[in-house]
Amino acid sequence: MEAEVRLFCQILDSIQDDYILVVNQERRIFYVNKPFLEHFRYQRDEVIGKLCYEMSRPFHEPCTAAQGQCPLENTLSLGITQKTTLTRNWEGRKLSYEAMFYPLKEDGRVTPHMVIGVFRDITTKRQLEQELRHRLEFESRLIRISIDGIVANDRQGNILIYNEGAQKILGYQPEEVIGKLNVAELYPPGLAREIKKKIYQDDFGGAGRLENFETTLRCQDGSLVPVWLSACLIYEDSQEIGVVGFFRDISERKRLEERFLQNKRLAAVGQMAAHIGHEIKNPLMLIGGFAQQVQRSASLEEKDQRKLQIIQEETRRLERFLTDLGSFTRVSTPHKVPGKIILLLQEVAEMMESSFKEQKVKFCLQPPPEVPVFSFDPGQIRQVFLNLFKNALEAMPAGGQLTVKIEVGDHDIALIIADTGQGIPPEVQKELFSPFFTTKEKGTGLGLVISRQIIEQHQGEIAIESEVDRGTRCIIRLPLTNQQNLYRRPI
Ligand code: ADP
Ligand code: MG
Repeated sequence: MEAEVRLFCQILDSIQDDYILVVNQERRIFYVNKPFLEHFRYQRDEVIGKLCYEMSRPFHEPCTAAQGQCPLENTLSLGITQKTTLTRNWEGRKLSYEAMFYPLKEDGRVTPHMVIGVFRDITTKRQLEQELRHRLEFESRLIRISIDGIVANDRQGNILIYNEGAQKILGYQPEEVIGKLNVAELYPPGLAREIKKKIYQDDFGGAGRLENFETTLRCQDGSLVPVWLSACLIYEDSQEIGVVGFFRDISERKRLEERFLQNKRLAAVGQMAAHIGHEIKNPLMLIGGFAQQVQRSASLEEKDQRKLQIIQEETRRLERFLTDLGSFTRVSTPHKVPGKIILLLQEVAEMMESSFKEQKVKFCLQPPPEVPVFSFDPGQIRQVFLNLFKNALEAMPAGGQLTVKIEVGDHDIALIIADTGQGIPPEVQKELFSPFFTTKEKGTGLGLVISRQIIEQHQGEIAIESEVDRGTRCIIRLPLTNQQNLYRRPI
């Protein structure tokens, strides 16, 4: 028996990585292996026969049987194997151990007569795990807060990652997408397949990659959003397991680009119009002037008088058109001076008073108690009010009400010009700001374009909302402070 015990102890000593402790029923230490002594820096006779909770070094955790917190407790009393994690501070470091307690039982007995404790230092493993966890958390935070949309999907298209950027651009909540939607549903029909093909091709950033490709995605509400999309295949052990896509909303950029192009086109049209206008104006005045002179001669028949009258009316109309064209080409940098916008509105309303009366249109100005003085070009803004009031009048041939409301914000002022006229059908609304677009027999289609040019030169915005048969609201926003001009018209 002695020999067997010795052999048993030798076996325990030869186990290098585990620190082994054998205790008896009374928790007295029966044996500790060599690695245990070396690791915890004990001499064998310092520990053998001692109560295990009297050992001061191994673990700082309460280890007293009296408190019922001994990690061996269940193994000792119930005879079951138990696993636990223990820590201790050693030379300024926090060490972690995984401990297993095995009962040594005699046949048929529930409680053991010995317990073998096997400790393994898992500090490094713990640290690595923690570092890995931190890194993963950091990476997933980066993904989550990225301004770009990030969506990753497996080979079947099931979405696995969907970040805040994507949520902002597409509108879906993560829980509506992850594991629920197929990535193809984020594209207009058929587009996902084409994009996938492009990823495999060489031409768009290399095989397995797609770089800054301009395309469209479909939002939750069905609207389409233009994006720059980059994507690449994800591999694990050289096996393709999915695709990750990064996309950036470029609708604002596109809007500015389009506006820039439109302004450029406008500038070109404007130059041509100025040239044509210059050539036509003088002969037109002559025609009108002569027609007037001839009409005065009494010898003419009434029929011919009427014709001359028409010549004069039409030349006047053409002259007005040329004046409009002129102001369209001349919208230049505004000469802003501090002024009271209400006075200007009242002035324009007075100018048009007789037309309002004639057409049974009630004019109603609704300013707040205080409207700050701010800088604008009175000549240009007067023109805007004239254009908009005229449009409102023309939309109310049977009378109505023209209301101007003013709302003062922290940084800007809103002027809302609302009529109770015929309204604008949706298909017409898209065209409102195209030069020469008109639905009127004698319209020029320049009023709104000129108005927008002027407002944008003031770093403001103009928008139109309308409902057929109910009326139209024209909302102008002007900054109360100076800002950079985003829409400077190209020369
Ligand atoms: P014009 O008045 O010469 O037609 P505008 O640029 O001023 O040119 O207006 C363009 C078009 O927009 C008009 O022909 C009309 O169809 C529509 N529109 C503008 N303002 C209104 C309004 N207040 N109510 C109804 N339609 C409007
Ligand atoms: Mg008009």
